Amino acid sequence: MSATILDGKAFAAALRQGLGSFVEALKQDQGLTPGLAVVLVGEDPASQVYVRNKHKSTIEAGMASFEYRLPDTTSQEELEALIDELNAREDVNGILVQLPLPKGLDDRAIIERIRVEKDVDGFHIENVGMLAAGVGKPLIPCTPLGSLLILQDHLGSLSGLNAVVLGRSNIVGKPMAQLLLSQSATVEICHSRTKDLAEHVRRADVLVAAVGRPEMVPGDWIKPGATVIDVGINRIDHPEKPGKSKLVGDVDTASCMQVAGAITPVPGGIGPMTIACLLANTLTATCRQHGLAEPDLLALVRQARGDDA
Ligand code: NDP
Repeated sequence: MSATILDGKAFAAALRQGLGSFVEALKQDQGLTPGLAVVLVGEDPASQVYVRNKHKSTIEAGMASFEYRLPDTTSQEELEALIDELNAREDVNGILVQLPLPKGLDDRAIIERIRVEKDVDGFHIENVGMLAAGVGKPLIPCTPLGSLLILQDHLGSLSGLNAVVLGRSNIVGKPMAQLLLSQSATVEICHSRTKDLAEHVRRADVLVAAVGRPEMVPGDWIKPGATVIDVGINRIDHPEKPGKSKLVGDVDTASCMQVAGAITPVPGGIGPMTIACLLANTLTATCRQHGLAEPDLLALVRQARGDDA
């Protein structure tokens, strides 16, 4: 048996296309252009690449992109003043501050400064609280949101399924577990202190791996037919090409493919979903700020793919 590959790259492309059509209609019907402001402090090379990609994708989706690149000498007060300005601007519907911030700046204080309705990363404590309590309309962190969309598209209802989340970070593990719970899955969260990890994973109809350990989960931990979401992005030395590197996930794809029902590859799985969901959150935020109906993301994907045709 070989698992179905859940092609996150194609899914993300369909989502971006669907979002683009929705944005076009918003411009025509309401004269509104969703705007995303991305703030980068310092010179971190990986962050610079992320910010460049976010800018490009935002423009491609027909939205307005506002980029702020500040020196690493920026003070907390200067950064907070910029956030206040962006909070007040009508043409900015979403604000993202690229993390981590340089030493000396207080990440948490900056995140809490962002207006909760514009917090398109979903990291503001009110968004975290709304998701945890199942109250109100939180903006959902992008990577877990992308993972959930792929799961729902493949499995339909998640109700009653055993879901195991490996990792308890605030960015991936915890919000992922909350989302799965919101869909009535039975959820276990495992972490570095979990005893007998393999036994937990073997019960999973749905496994989400977000540990940051290259190929940690072998195929013989996987329940036959399970759906495996591999969030991990790890760069390792290339086994066959000396001096080169390659990206691998947190699961050993080759052995897991023999047992799982479906699996996301690395690269080309959850990675591309993260930016697509940032755009989705910016559009959702725009609609909510203007009291308009917000997009149904799965419906947009299915329409873009021509599923009903
Ligand atoms: P963190 O380092 O913040 O969290 C890792 C989690 O894994 C922790 O909860 C840790 O447990 C747990 N863990 C570590 N080692 C083990 C182990 N041996 N057994 C069980 N649990 C373990 O990472 P993130 O959540 O930020 O990211 C996880 C992975 O996802 C990384 O590879 C990252 O690159 C990737 N990622 C991918 C994204 C994408 O766009 N696809 C976006 C964000 C992240 P404890 O809490 O006990 O320390």
